[in-house]
Amino acid sequence: MIRRYLLYLIRWQLSTPILAPVIALFKHSPSLFGTREDWIGAAIANLIGGLIFFWVDRFIFTSEKLGTVWQVHENVTCGECGKTARGYRLVKTEGYDKTKSAPQFRCEECSLKKSETLRKKGVRID
Ligand SMILES: [Zn+2]
Repeated sequence: MIRRYLLYLIRWQLSTPILAPVIALFKHSPSLFGTREDWIGAAIANLIGGLIFFWVDRFIFTSEKLGTVWQVHENVTCGECGKTARGYRLVKTEGYDKTKSAPQFRCEECSLKKSETLRKKGVRID
């Protein structure tokens, strides 16, 4: 996860070349592309943003409180019928958490059947 965090921080720095000139424009910097301070300010702002929003984005994309989390992969072998197709995997929903389990994908048909079985057991699937 530390690797993802570092990549995320680097991703945020990619927006520095956009942010610095915009800051420069709005504060009427002497240089069109911004001063050294504009660039340092933008880089620090993006570092702070990355440090905070990693956790916010992680919550948005993995929290079952915001709905069911699915994983979809192309050309996988269905764990149920063995067919090679687009594979679906229910990762997380209220009362169901397979984030730490070995991934098992199912073709659409088998996934629908599995979803129905889980619904009958009371698992909420959006
Ligand atoms: Zn299948």
